[in-house]
Amino acid sequence: MSAEILDGKLLAQQIKVSLRNEIEQIKLKTGKIPKVVNVIIGDDHGSCAYAKSQIRVADEVGIDYSLLNYPQNISQDDFISEIKKLNDDKDINGIMIHRPVPSQINYKEIANILDDNKDLEGINVSNIGKMMLGETNIIPCTPASVMEHIKSTGINLRGKEAVIVGASQIVGKPLGLLLLREMATLTYCHIATSEAGMLDDHLKRADIVIVAVGKAGLVNGSQLKNGAIVVDVGINKSENGIVGDVDFESASKIASYITPVPGGVGPVTVVMLMRNGLEAFKQQNRNIL
Ligand code: NAD
Repeated sequence: MSAEILDGKLLAQQIKVSLRNEIEQIKLKTGKIPKVVNVIIGDDHGSCAYAKSQIRVADEVGIDYSLLNYPQNISQDDFISEIKKLNDDKDINGIMIHRPVPSQINYKEIANILDDNKDLEGINVSNIGKMMLGETNIIPCTPASVMEHIKSTGINLRGKEAVIVGASQIVGKPLGLLLLREMATLTYCHIATSEAGMLDDHLKRADIVIVAVGKAGLVNGSQLKNGAIVVDVGINKSENGIVGDVDFESASKIASYITPVPGGVGPVTVVMLMRNGLEAFKQQNRNIL
């Protein structure tokens, strides 16, 4: 058996078309388009490369996107005042704070100062709470990308065994809430699962496996159930370039569907950011839509 590849670039393209259509309709009806800003402190090159792909995707879907640069030595208090100004600016629908931030900045505090209707990455405490209650469509981007990949297989998740390896705040934990919404039976695995020697037991019965750890080759084909859907979130540098957390060669012989790295979860994640921009706009403009 050889798995079908879940092509992130193709899926991203399909979602971009539907976002662009919806934004065009909104523009016709209201004369407005969503406006989002990416706040970058300093000139970290990694951040800027990611920002470039955001600029391109925003342009493709018709979202007004700006980069706001603040000096590397900005203080926490000054930065908080700047974020509050952006919160109050009625023309801005979505705000993201680019990481890494310099050491004098408390990212967690800043994330929670963000107006939750403008929290483009869906990461502040209020949005995570609303997501748990199913009360917002602003969803953390990487988990949202994983869900798009899983849904693209056509699987009905109801009653299926889903195993998430990696339970971080930004990927694994919120992803679990999304899988629960679809009535999957959910297991979280993490470092202590591996330490207890239990990872294989959980993987063996999984219909869907999502690995978000940051360890190349953590999961391979011999650990998977025949026909499992495998989504690899990991990004690791290796001698052969960027690789995921799943040993692609062995896993693709056992899985029914598998995401490649690169070219799987990543390309859809940036599109999810723009979808959040649209959702934020809709949440703020219910009266005119
Ligand atoms: P993190 O370091 O915050 O969390 C890692 C998780 O993996 C923790 O829950 C930890 O307990 C678990 N873990 C560590 N070693 C383990 C082991 N041996 N067995 C089982 N679980 C283990 O990581 P993160 O920020 O969630 O990122 C995870 C990976 O996903 C990284 O490679 C990161 O680069 C990548 N990532 C990709 C995207 C994307 O859009 N493609 C976005 C975010 C993160």
